[in-house]
Amino acid sequence: MEDGSRALAELLRVARRAVVFTGAGISTESGIPDFRSQGGIWTKMMPIDFDAFLASPDARRESWRRRFEMEGTWRAVRPNAGHDAVAELVRRGTVTHVITQNIDNLHQDSGVPEDRVIELHGNTRYAKCLTCGARAEIEDIRTHFEAHGEPPDCKFCGGIVKTATISFGQAMPEKEMDLAHRATLACDLMLVLGSSLVVYPAAGFPLLAKRGGARLAIVNREETEQDRFADQVIHASIGSVLPAAVAAL
Ligand SMILES: [Zn+2]
Repeated sequence: MEDGSRALAELLRVARRAVVFTGAGISTESGIPDFRSQGGIWTKMMPIDFDAFLASPDARRESWRRRFEMEGTWRAVRPNAGHDAVAELVRRGTVTHVITQNIDNLHQDSGVPEDRVIELHGNTRYAKCLTCGARAEIEDIRTHFEAHGEPPDCKFCGGIVKTATISFGQAMPEKEMDLAHRATLACDLMLVLGSSLVVYPAAGFPLLAKRGGARLAIVNREETEQDRFADQVIHASIGSVLPAAVAAL
């Protein structure tokens, strides 16, 4: 076994209320492109920010066209060994919550109960009305879009419907930020998986945990902004390190 896995297993063994914090790096191992990385989608296409989405029907149509283009990817992706290891840690009670920057639903797909997943940037697998919050299904929106050339309004209140993600310029979700805050302050170990910890306010949680007296471990292929604050840093693939650590518990 790698040294990294062994040391990580030691940290997990003494943890009573660990929190996992995940970023794009855990999902790239499932074949989901990292939008922010070099060659990623956002280096080729300007993201549509929230104000533009609200202001312009053209921007809304373009935003939905892009979303429908990704549907094949979202439907095909499956949780990988890293997600499965996280789910196992939740099942065992070692991990209380999974705070994620990802929008792909793969933690829930891997068996982590919904009330244990805190999605800071929302979820792209369904849509929500921006006015009343009612949920809408992507497939229904697509059917309407294909028939009418534009997305439907909310069927309950007539509001604008958008994927349940947090766009650039959109306020962070209050409830999730509050849940993440509380889980972070209560944890005794924060395990960061696959985040370079540059996108704030999400990236503030590992430091908050550390300041609150928790240990901090980071598994990421590249160096992160917070490596120097961590008790343990492993620069490797999550899918190789974490399952080995869990198996060694
Ligand atoms: Zn509505």
